[in-house]
Amino acid sequence: MNKKTLNEVNVSGKKVLVRVDFNVPLKDGVITDDNRIQAALPTIKHLVKNKAKIILLSHLSRIKTEEDKSKKSLAPIAIALEKAVGQKVVFVAATRGAELESAINTLKDGEILLLENTRFEDVKNNEVVKAESKNDPDLGKYWASLGDIFVNDAFGTAHRAHASNVGISKNIKESCVGFLVQKELEMLAQGVDKPAHPFVAIIGGAKVSDKIGVIDNLLTKADKIIIGGGMAYTFFAAQGHKIGKSLLEADKIDLAKEYLQKANGKIILPIDSANATEFKDVAPSFSGVDLPDDVMGLDIGPKSIELFQKELLGAKTVAWNGPMGVFEMENFKKGTVAVCESIANLKDAFTLIGGGDSAAAAIQLGFKEKFTHISTGGGASLEYMEGKVLPGVEAIQNK
Ligand code: AMP
Repeated sequence: MNKKTLNEVNVSGKKVLVRVDFNVPLKDGVITDDNRIQAALPTIKHLVKNKAKIILLSHLSRIKTEEDKSKKSLAPIAIALEKAVGQKVVFVAATRGAELESAINTLKDGEILLLENTRFEDVKNNEVVKAESKNDPDLGKYWASLGDIFVNDAFGTAHRAHASNVGISKNIKESCVGFLVQKELEMLAQGVDKPAHPFVAIIGGAKVSDKIGVIDNLLTKADKIIIGGGMAYTFFAAQGHKIGKSLLEADKIDLAKEYLQKANGKIILPIDSANATEFKDVAPSFSGVDLPDDVMGLDIGPKSIELFQKELLGAKTVAWNGPMGVFEMENFKKGTVAVCESIANLKDAFTLIGGGDSAAAAIQLGFKEKFTHISTGGGASLEYMEGKVLPGVEAIQNK
């Protein structure tokens, strides 16, 4: 990796601004899943141990109105962090100003401070100004002025150019990636850029349009691309099959044809389908790739599961993004579960899940430990798989 990493920076006695991802799910002010807090601990603990003055910045959800602010404070997160890290966390209920500045200036080495939700800067006096989300240059400059070093450890927002990542990086003398971002980048590089072959990619989810970039990029890198989920039906249509009432992106049929031609046999499509007459969790009927007019395909069928399992055998690298069907419905989750299980059970393979629904499915099914890496950032890992530059990483200093 060409970006400076935390181990390469002397943080002792310095004011270190750290962009973390504490965008945790909250229900009535209670954190329902603290995975993201746990994921930030290695970087925070390293900074404590090495006697930095630690200033944490994070967003929480989206802020569109002044009322949103009362429900989206980082105050409960400061309490959870205190427990997780085992030391006091100073919470300042502001994103700028004299109180914040004096709290930072009285921090001792090894102490931790957390600012209020960075996206509070998106709304000022009831007006949506998006200072954080549109990377207002003054805001990035101001936050940068509060510290000596910037550490970006928020992979979940690395695909966005915001004031709290790109803005600070561009205005501070020294910057690096934190341990979480470093690991994500190393894993994605190994899985996508330097894969051991055979490399099998499995792409699913609702729409072709969401995954065009991924298919495009992986066509040049993978040995096979297995396509499932709602997007498979647009490919069926491109092959001239009847798809009944299934999800169809009519304007992507030509593109699907183009990919099938370009792929030269690399694209593997389902060979059967589990269907329902409505978008409902009912016992499925099954068909081949020509569906009756009155049904919609909601999952891959048993023959496709078998085919995909066969295609996965012997893979040395597998990258998976997107479910094989409507896995939220009990009757239509079989394809996703089977694919997840097959990847998890591969021996001697580097297995990568690109966040989002597939990551949630793997964790829910108890396979978390069986994958080489499950990305914490759905959008960011998807953009990485598309071969795009992540602005939050790009803005960090090179080694
Ligand atoms: P994505 O965010 O693009 O990965 O899409 C995930 C969504 O695709 C999930 O909510 C699934 O329910 C949905 N999905 C997967 N397969 C189908 C299908 N055959 N028909 C409709 N929706 C689907």
